[in-house]
Amino acid sequence: MSATKMGSITVGEALAYILSHFAPLPPEPTPLAEADGRVLAEDVTSDIDIPPFANSAMDGYAVRAADTQGATRAAPRPLRVIGNVAAGYVAGATVGPGEAVRIMTGAPLPDGADAVIRFEETSEGDALHAGAAHAGNRPPEGAKAAWRDVAGGHAASGVTEVQLYAGVQPWDNVRHAGEDVRRGQVVLARGTVIRPFEVALLAAVGRPQVLTHRRPRVAILSTGDELVDVDQPVGPGQIRNSNSYGLAAQVRAAGGVPILLGIARDNLEELTARVAEGLAQAPDLFVTSAGVSVGDYDIVKDVLDREGTMHFWQVRMKPGKPLAFGVVRGVPLLGLPGNPVSSLVSMEQFGRPAILKMLGRLHLARPVVTVRALEAIPNKSGREHYIRAVVTRNANGEYEARSTGEQGSGILTSLTGANAMLIVEETRTLVQPGETVRAIMLDWPEQVF
Ligand code: AMP
Ligand code: MG
Repeated sequence: MSATKMGSITVGEALAYILSHFAPLPPEPTPLAEADGRVLAEDVTSDIDIPPFANSAMDGYAVRAADTQGATRAAPRPLRVIGNVAAGYVAGATVGPGEAVRIMTGAPLPDGADAVIRFEETSEGDALHAGAAHAGNRPPEGAKAAWRDVAGGHAASGVTEVQLYAGVQPWDNVRHAGEDVRRGQVVLARGTVIRPFEVALLAAVGRPQVLTHRRPRVAILSTGDELVDVDQPVGPGQIRNSNSYGLAAQVRAAGGVPILLGIARDNLEELTARVAEGLAQAPDLFVTSAGVSVGDYDIVKDVLDREGTMHFWQVRMKPGKPLAFGVVRGVPLLGLPGNPVSSLVSMEQFGRPAILKMLGRLHLARPVVTVRALEAIPNKSGREHYIRAVVTRNANGEYEARSTGEQGSGILTSLTGANAMLIVEETRTLVQPGETVRAIMLDWPEQVF
C-alpha cells in the first residue's frame, strides 16, 4: 500500500511531481458578487452591443454637424433648441436643419443629429466661465418643461436658442453602438482570472452568475506535543502553534478555503484518528505541519506511510529540507516541516502552486526579478537557499536587495518584514555585494514600486 522513498531531490523535481497530482477543480455556477479571485471556466459572450445605442459622450447639444461649420466665438451661429434629453430617456423629436437638442452624457443621440457640441463651446458655457454654480449640470429653469416634453416623446418647447462658438465634425462626441463590445462577441475567455475590472464587464454583459472553478478546500493539521493554541498560556517546554494560522492565511491568500483541524499529539493513535477526521471533511488538499524529520517522535511519516502512498524527501532547499508528499485515501497530502520558516516557505513553494492549479490558474509562479545584492550573502548549505529579503528600487530605478537579517529556520521575524526571497543556487557559495541574484517577489509594496 505504500512506497516510501527517502531521496534527495531538487525543488523543481519535487514541485513537478506534486503538481502532477492536481488539476483544475470542477466548474460551478458562481454568483457574480463572489466571482472575483476565481478563474472563468467558460467563454463569456455578450447578449447586447455595448453601448446598446449611439449616445452622447458629453453634456452639450445634439446637432447636425453641417449646421455648425464656420461657427466661431467672433461669429457665433444660432440654432433653435427643440428640447432636452437626459440619460435614461429617448428624445421624441427629430433634429432638423437649424435645430438642436440639449443632451446629457449617456443620453441616446436623437434622430437627425450626427454630432454633439459641448456646452463649453456654446453660449451656455458663458455661464460656466462666469462661475455660475452648476450652470452646466442643470437645465436652465425654462428648459425643464422641454426635458419632460422630449423625454415623453412630445414636441419640444421652452429653451429657444443657443449660440455655437465652434464647429464640430460628424460623430464628434458621439459614442457608437457596439464600439466597446459587439453582441455575441467573446469578451472574456475561459482561464481568465476575474479581477474587479472583469467583474464590471461580466455585469455589463448581463451575467449575474458565471462558471468558475471551485475554490480548493485545504485541511491543516499541526502536530506536536509541545504545541498550545494561541489563546492558551504557554507552560514549560511549550510553544504556541503559529504554523496553523500562518498556513491558513497562506491558503486564503492563494484563493483556497482553509479547514483548521487544530493540534494532534505525537502518538500514532491520535494522529491516525485526526487524519481520518480531516479526510471526512472532504478536503482537496491535506496539509500537515511537523513530524516528518528524523527525530524520535517524528511519527507523521509512519502514519502517512501506513494510511496512504507516501514519498519522504530531503528537498535540497533551505529553509525546509524534510518534505512528505503522497496520497491518503484519494486526497493529496503535503507533509510540511515543523520549523516555522521552513513550514511557511515550503507552503509558499509547493502548496501555493497546487492551490492555484486547482483554482484553474494558468500561471503558478510568482514574478521573479533580477536584483543587486547590497551585502554579502553566504550559502554554505549546498542547498538552494531562499534568503528572506527586502527589495527596493534605487534612484536609477534598479532593484536592490538586503536580507532581513538572521536567517535561521526558526526566525519567524526573517519573514515578517520580507517582500521577496532571494534564490541562491546550491552551487553558489557566496553572493558578493554588488552581484546580481534572482528574487521571488512575494509582494510589491506601494512605497517601493
Ligand atoms: P519537528 O518537525 O516536529 O521536528 O519540529 C521542528 C521544530 O518546529 C520544533 O522546534 C517544533 O517545536 C517547531 N514546531 C513544530 N510545529 C510547530 C507549529 N505548529 N508552530 C510553531 N512551531 C512548530
Ligand atoms: Mg515534533
